Amino acid sequence: MLADVTTMQLMCMRLAELQARGEDNQTIASMVKMTTSRKALAVCREARDMMGGNGLLLENHVARHLTDMEVISTYEGTDSMQALIVGRAITGKSAFTTNRRER
Ligand SMILES: Cc1cc2nc3c(=O)[nH]c(=O)nc-3n(C[C@H](O)[C@H](O)[C@H](O)COP(=O)(O)OP(=O)(O)OC[C@H]3O[C@@H](n4cnc5c(N)ncnc54)[C@H](O)[C@@H]3O)c2cc1C
Repeated sequence: MLADVTTMQLMCMRLAELQARGEDNQTIASMVKMTTSRKALAVCREARDMMGGNGLLLENHVARHLTDMEVISTYEGTDSMQALIVGRAITGKSAFTTNRRER
């Protein structure tokens, strides 16, 4: 869990460096948002599992973090949206659906 949190911090620091230099970092921002959301959710789930039923009690705060991370995976671009943005940047092809019934 510490290794994952440290990885997330390093990714965010790198993104902040690019931002400070004024470099175009939109694709990297999507990659960082997608990766850190997924990793943070996994860390919260592991903590919840380690604590068994106690992990669900609000007084222990793990379930609250878990719910917060589900929200962060969704707003300001869902994980799927971030993945589609990264995919478009590295392949040159857009896999966004135009008709939502296609999904
Ligand atoms: C706690 C909370 C606070 C929020 N606060 C704000 C706020 O302050 N301001 C604001 O504007 N919004 C806010 N939102 C809304 C949030 O931005 C949306 O929930 C988010 O953008 C996802 O949109 P949606 O819920 O309509 O899901 P949908 O767009 O219906 O998406 C459902 C699924 O389909 C996928 N999908 C959608 N379109 C495509 C496509 N074209 N191709 C492929 N896959 C697709 C998505 O990735 C997702 O997996 C908030 C949401 C939450 C939960």
